[in-house]
Amino acid sequence: MLDAKTAVVTGSTSGIGLAVARALAKAGANVVINGFGDKVEIEATRAGIEADHGKPVIYDAADMLKPREIARMIQDAEERFGAVDILVNNAGIQHVSPVDEFPDDKWDQIIAINLSAAFHATKAALPGMKRKGWGRIVNTASAHALVASPFKSAYVAAKHGIAGFTKSAALEVAQQKITVNAICPGYVWTPLVEKQIPDTMKARGMTEDEVKRDVLLAAQPTKEFVTPDQVAALAVFLCSDAAAQITGALLTMDGGWTAA
Ligand code: NAD
Repeated sequence: MLDAKTAVVTGSTSGIGLAVARALAKAGANVVINGFGDKVEIEATRAGIEADHGKPVIYDAADMLKPREIARMIQDAEERFGAVDILVNNAGIQHVSPVDEFPDDKWDQIIAINLSAAFHATKAALPGMKRKGWGRIVNTASAHALVASPFKSAYVAAKHGIAGFTKSAALEVAQQKITVNAICPGYVWTPLVEKQIPDTMKARGMTEDEVKRDVLLAAQPTKEFVTPDQVAALAVFLCSDAAAQITGALLTMDGGWTAA
C-alpha cells in the first residue's frame, strides 16, 4: 500500500513510535527511525524491521530538542530516499509535578520535544511534499490534547498546542493532497507510562496498583490500556488513500475517556 513511499517517525526506538515504524515498513514504506537508547539495541531493532519487511530502514539520532538536527534529519532522508512522503511526529516525554514545583528545564524540554519539534520537522518536510503533491503528517497527540489532568501542566499544554498546530497546518495544505492529523490516544502501555508511575505515586501518595486503577484506567471506561499496535494501525490508515479526506482531525483512541 505504501510502496515507494518514505516515512520518518520521530521517537521510534520505543513504544508507540516503534510500533508505527514497524507497521509502516510492513505496509511497504522505507522508514527512518529516530530516538534515544542503547546503540546495540537500536541497531538490532533497525536490522530486525528491515529483515522482517524487506524495506530499507535507517536510524537517525537527531535530538528533537535541536531544530537544526531536526531539519538535517529530514534533509538527509530526502537525499537518501528521494523524498519524505510521511512524517510521524511522535517523540514525547512526560514529567509529573504540581505547577508551583514544576522544574523550569522540564517545562522547556516538554514544550520543545512534544510541540516545537513537530513544527520544525513539518516545516522541513512540507516543501518536498508540496513538490510531490502528496503527503501525510501524523502527529501523536494525546487525550491530553482535549482534556486535562492535574500535575501534567507542561504535557497538557504541549498536547493542546499540537492539536492547534495540526488544524492550522492542515488548512494551509488542504488543496495540495497533504493531510495533517493527530491521533489522541488514552493510556497506552509503553515505557513513557511505566516511568511516570513512581512520580504519580509520590504526587498523590498512592501505591502502584492504585495509580494504575484509580489514576490511569480510572479515566478509561473500557478499563483497558490501548496497545501501541492499535495506534500504529490508525497511523497506517491515515497514510492510505482511503483517508485522503481526513485532515485537520483529532482522532481519539482512548477507550471512551473523552466521551465521558
Ligand atoms: P516512549 O517513552 O516509549 O517513547 C518515546 C520515544 O521518544 C523514544 O523513542 C525516545 O527515545 C524518544 N525521544 C525522547 N526524547 C527525544 C529527543 N529529545 N529526541 C529524539 N527522540 C526522543 O513513549 P510512548 O508512550 O511511546 O510515547 C510516544 C508518543 O505518544 C509521545 O508523544 C507521547 O506523548 C504520546 N502518547 C503516549 C501515551 C501513552 O499512554 N503511552 C498516550 C498518549 C500519547
